[in-house]
Amino acid sequence: MQIEKIVLIQPAHQGRIWGKAAGSPYTLMRLASMVPSDIPIEIWDENLGPLNYARLNPRTLVGISSMTVTSEGAQTIATRARQRGSPVVVGGVHSTLVPDEVAPWADTVVVGEAYRTWLQIIQDCANDQLKPRYVDVEWASLDTLAPITDRVIKHVDEHRHYWTPSLEITRGCPRNCTFCTAVRVSGKIMRHRPVEQIVEEIARRRIKRFFLTDDNLGLNFHTDPAYIEKVFRALEPLPIRSWTTQTELIVAQYPDLIDLARRAHMDKFFIGFESINPENRRDLGGKTKGQVADVKRVVRAIHARGLNVVGLFVFGFDHDTVEVFEKTWQFIRESEFDGVSVTVLTPFPGTPQREQLIAQDRLLPNVPWSHYDTAHVAFRPALMTVEQLRAGYDWLCRQVYSPRQIATRGMRALGRYPLSQARAKAFSSFSTDIGYRNAYALRYR
Ligand code: SF4
Repeated sequence: MQIEKIVLIQPAHQGRIWGKAAGSPYTLMRLASMVPSDIPIEIWDENLGPLNYARLNPRTLVGISSMTVTSEGAQTIATRARQRGSPVVVGGVHSTLVPDEVAPWADTVVVGEAYRTWLQIIQDCANDQLKPRYVDVEWASLDTLAPITDRVIKHVDEHRHYWTPSLEITRGCPRNCTFCTAVRVSGKIMRHRPVEQIVEEIARRRIKRFFLTDDNLGLNFHTDPAYIEKVFRALEPLPIRSWTTQTELIVAQYPDLIDLARRAHMDKFFIGFESINPENRRDLGGKTKGQVADVKRVVRAIHARGLNVVGLFVFGFDHDTVEVFEKTWQFIRESEFDGVSVTVLTPFPGTPQREQLIAQDRLLPNVPWSHYDTAHVAFRPALMTVEQLRAGYDWLCRQVYSPRQIATRGMRALGRYPLSQARAKAFSSFSTDIGYRNAYALRYR
């Protein structure tokens, strides 16, 4: 078939914040940039509004990105697109983890990152030889990724439509926490982008704020400090206002790199504590190592170096009892975080956690994928009832996201920095908390 255009679609996931979607569709922007320049390309983001299916026809190749939580939405989009006669390719996390489940409602399923298969898919589609499945058998080197093209940057118009642009510096995580899909989706080996490419991309996209999509940038402080130092030194002279990243507590062992991070305009770390219960350590890939007693000191040390800290917690591990909510709340209040994320353990497909729950017949029946949003309970906990996990989680959310607590964390940030930085830091604390509060409220609507 003569491909008239390619449309890459992001199913709706989050609400809008003041008219903008939360984060830019970075993976689709990258895949769109690989498309030969003689084929028109569009990215449709359902987070920005309803999709115009009338613009699809049998000569439109449609690619849909699937996460587990959006997979039902992706299926609806695929069905509507196929009704218009368009061949539909579904890729992303969900199709990588459970391709057999996606296959019945897609013409083609992509397993893996698609960097090695996407051009072949386009060519096969043009030759009417689209196969039912394409598998990236090896992780692509991030060195060889095509740069995001100017036509994609112009088309997506991140500054107008998105609250926070996304950026990637590293990918992968060797920790293999039992509940996390990163190892299966991004790989165990940490891959790094060439520093020059990162700088060039930031300049061309003219982004001044961004959120790193990296699985665990902070572990690189330990495994490859020379690379991290090079990245930070390269970002320092750029006109960036602020950026944030997910990490783990290990960064606290590298004060010199934290100093460089601040000079590179980093605003805050999102630190995955996951659980304050040391009994749950087995599930955390060797991450926290019972450092709970040190956390307050560590958070203060990071504050003293000019960065905010957002604490991330997960509930429902096998050693959690009903006491975990009160104890964590106590811990959160004492630890002086600038923002807090609390979530329910979610048995995502492809994880050891899910396999164990299936083996023990503890998955709840009939939980739709749309409830795999880290705010609903999808399994029977070991030492609580389902209702106790739900009620404890709701109680904790009401404490953590109460206007008073959000104000307390924001005001604390305000008082900690010199006047020149205080407003930005307090805004950063408020906006993170309000974002999490809205996400929690949205899930329970
Ligand atoms: S450290 Fe974070 S990214 Fe790595 S496996 Fe654990 S939860 Fe996933």
